[in-house]
This record gives sequence, C-alpha cells and structure tokens, in this order.
Amino acid sequence: MPNKNTTIYPVSNVAEVLSILKNVRGVSIVAGCTELARRQTGRNLRLPPLVLPLSRVPELCTVAKTERYIDFGPSVTLEAILQLGAKNLPEALHRAVKSVANPGIRALGTLGGNISAKGHRLTAFAPLLALDARLEIKSPAETLWIPMNRYFSNTGKTHRDPTEFISKIRVPTEHWDFSVFRRIGSAGIISSSTASFVFLVKLQKNILADIRIAWAGSYFFRNREFENILIGRSLPIQAKDIDYVTEKAEAFFPAELFPPSYERSCFINLLRESLSTLT
Ligand SMILES: Cc1cc2nc3c(=O)[nH]c(=O)nc-3n(C[C@H](O)[C@H](O)[C@H](O)COP(=O)(O)OP(=O)(O)OC[C@H]3O[C@@H](n4cnc5c(N)ncnc54)[C@H](O)[C@@H]3O)c2cc1C
Repeated sequence: MPNKNTTIYPVSNVAEVLSILKNVRGVSIVAGCTELARRQTGRNLRLPPLVLPLSRVPELCTVAKTERYIDFGPSVTLEAILQLGAKNLPEALHRAVKSVANPGIRALGTLGGNISAKGHRLTAFAPLLALDARLEIKSPAETLWIPMNRYFSNTGKTHRDPTEFISKIRVPTEHWDFSVFRRIGSAGIISSSTASFVFLVKLQKNILADIRIAWAGSYFFRNREFENILIGRSLPIQAKDIDYVTEKAEAFFPAELFPPSYERSCFINLLRESLSTLT
C-alpha cells in the first residue's frame, strides 16, 4: 500500500512515461522497489510523493537476443534473466544476478533498478561495466546510446537530467575464455563492504587478445589504458609481470576516490589471484 500522500502515475507504454517525465516536476522513477525497501527500516514501504512506476510497462520488460548482443528492457526482473539459462547469458552476469538477495527479491528487483541504485554500486554493475554494456537513455527531447562507464560517475556528476530514464541495456555476448566474478561482503545482502570484481580474458592461441577488469562497490573502476598493459602478452604470465601489473594498478586508482582501504586491498588481491590463473 502506498503512503497516503503519494501520487502514483500509472503508465502502460514509453510514450506515457515520457509524457509524465516532461509534465510532472519532481516525479521519482521506481521499478521493483526492492532497493527502495532495502534502504528503509520501517514496517511499511514509504514511497516518494510523486511516483512513476516502470515495472509494468511491457516495452520495458522485453529481452531480445541477436548474434552479437542481448537487449534487456530495464524492467526485466533478475529472476526472468536467470530463467534465460546460464548458456544464454555472459557467465559473469549470470553469476552476479544469481548472487543477488534471494528468489523472492529477484522476482521483483530489476536490472535497471540494480544499476541505477544511487550511492553504492550494486552487484550487476561490475559485470555490465566489464562487458562494455551500453545504455539507451530516453528523454522527451531525445534518445541516446551511452557506454555505461560514461553514463555513471564516481563523483556524482552524471549525464542524468530529471526527465530521462534508462530504456534499454545492451550487453555484448562475445565469448570469453576466462570469466571471473567475485563478490566481497556478506552473501545476499548489501553492506558498506559489498563490492564486485570481474576479470575477463580472451585468448588467441596463447596471446592475451583482450582483457577486462572491473570493480564496483562504493567506488567503481574500469580503465582501458590499464587493461592495455596486459593485452598482447603471451601466456604463461610470469610472476614478475604480475608484480608489475599490480604495482601499476595502485597508480591507476585515484587515491582521493579510492583511498587505501579494505576494498582497495581486496581489489589488488583479487587482481593478483586472477592473473595467477594465467601463469
Ligand atoms: C533483503 C535485500 C537484499 C538485497 N540484496 C542485494 C544483493 O545481494 N545485490 C544487489 O545488487 N542488490 C540487492 N538488493 C537490492 C535490490 O533488490 C536489487 O539491486 C534490485 O535489482 C533493484 O531493482 P529494483 O527494480 O527493485 O529497484 P528500485 O528500488 O525500484 O529502484 C532503485 C533505483 O533505480 C532507479 N531506477 C529504476 N529503474 C530505472 C530506470 N529504468 N531508469 C532510471 N532509473 C531507474 C530508481 O529511481 C531508484 O533510484 C537487496 C534488497 C533487499 C531488500
């Protein structure tokens, strides 16, 4: 039950969503409301005063697979994603989604809500960042495709204006020879120490043809320049190269955003552990 002083704007298609965003100042987008609920302590869910619910808009709940990518509507639930089956999803994304909360929460929680959650980055963020996901952003004025790492920001400055929303999440489905997903913090809940790490490797014979390294928790990180340090090296990676790359990693993370901390140490240790699987 919504609180008494909440106005809900029921919408059934994207045109209506855009019309509400254009005409109702201060309206808050919600999807499954599970992240909203997670941040509250009372018995009843308290909704913002003006609510635009996206979870029942059929156009936003579709999944379309092509040869090269999967397009997820932002309101696709995490459980519906799991039902596609592990073989139809990038491994890191499948493992991440499976690790979220429990089946009850996953039946309501959506992919769009997971990556849009404010503040701490949640569990699907690092896999989508590593997989080079792109976001379709719609506003009454335009529709844009933006790489995920450019849409979100560690400093709170984003492209977002209050009349836009994520209308599609496009995830490339190329093959990765190694795919590591690791979560830190307690399983199935979010705490201040929750974070996710993803390490993907593509080989051509014994050469590292591509590598992706992503981290998301209170801070998120992915840096192509850093990944390029490794691309082109041949396997097995030498122990001295692992030392070199982890030292470089320290230099790549801005200390003002990611100061020495438990999180930072976990990242370095997971990086070292993942690289050692290539020795
Ligand atoms: C007990 C419990 C355990 C949990 N454990 C985990 C966990 O282990 N890992 C994890 O990742 N999460 C966890 N969560 C959080 C949550 O369930 C998931 O992250 C879920 O995917 C959020 O989706 P939602 O649709 O419910 O988001 P909502 O609560 O509806 O929205 C979250 C945010 O996203 C914004 N938003 C939603 N859709 C859009 C859109 N299309 N465009 C722009 N903004 C949008 C909303 O404005 C809001 O700011 C947990 C929650 C609970 C209650």
